Amino acid sequence: MQDKIAIIGGSGVYGLFRKAKKVSVKTPYGKVDNISKVKHKNQEMFFLPRHGPKHSVPPHLINYRANLYALYELGVSRIFATNAVGSIDTSINPGDFVIPDQIIDMTKHRPLTYYDGQTKINFSDGTSRQGVVHLDYTNPYCPKLRTQYIKAVEEIGGMVHTKGVHICADGPRFETPAEIIMYQKMGGTVVGMTTIPEAILARELKMCYATLCLITNYGAGMQEKITHEEVVRLFKEKTDTIKEIMKNIVAQKMLDIKCDCKD
Ligand SMILES: [Zn+2]
Repeated sequence: MQDKIAIIGGSGVYGLFRKAKKVSVKTPYGKVDNISKVKHKNQEMFFLPRHGPKHSVPPHLINYRANLYALYELGVSRIFATNAVGSIDTSINPGDFVIPDQIIDMTKHRPLTYYDGQTKINFSDGTSRQGVVHLDYTNPYCPKLRTQYIKAVEEIGGMVHTKGVHICADGPRFETPAEIIMYQKMGGTVVGMTTIPEAILARELKMCYATLCLITNYGAGMQEKITHEEVVRLFKEKTDTIKEIMKNIVAQKMLDIKCDCKD
């Protein structure tokens, strides 16, 4: 089976795919437009702009189920996501990268699964899933893809924290200082708005998934006011670095690390 890669992300990655062909995919959850498709050394690759082509969809309104289902329909097996996040750990600074290994789900208002008791999903390996499904989530991010990401950031000389607890909240507002203190007490490392339900849905569709978190700010109460402009500015500053990381990922040989994302 061909190993197809997809990158999910925002502005930092757009430039890599400027000349790419655009594809649309119809899914049971809605149509997904503007997926870029490129071929690199006989390997098909896709880029999905999480917030829509013009970055117009806020985190709490993203059609995550359609997005992930579209990648699954395209035959994607490995998803490299990127997230802009706030640091709630004083030893992790804006501009650093974190490859989280754990998640705390603080979202309240999002569809979190494909398995509503009725839906049946058939997989390319001949198996299917239907009914009440409880998946193991001991490793919410794929250990193989996490290692690939860590290797890529280290090889280009970036600052990478190789572990972290990714807290996901609905947004679209930033957190209150009281919430940040609570998240720190819970053991959080970074706080973002988009890894849930992406990481869950990828696992439900047997796709490997990991994310590269770029710290764009400290949590509320740890710095002066947080603005969206500040987040965008830091992301722009790191655009070239993110492109280098992604190029490194694509050039890497498949690592001999086991994962059970498909089981
Ligand atoms: Zn995996």
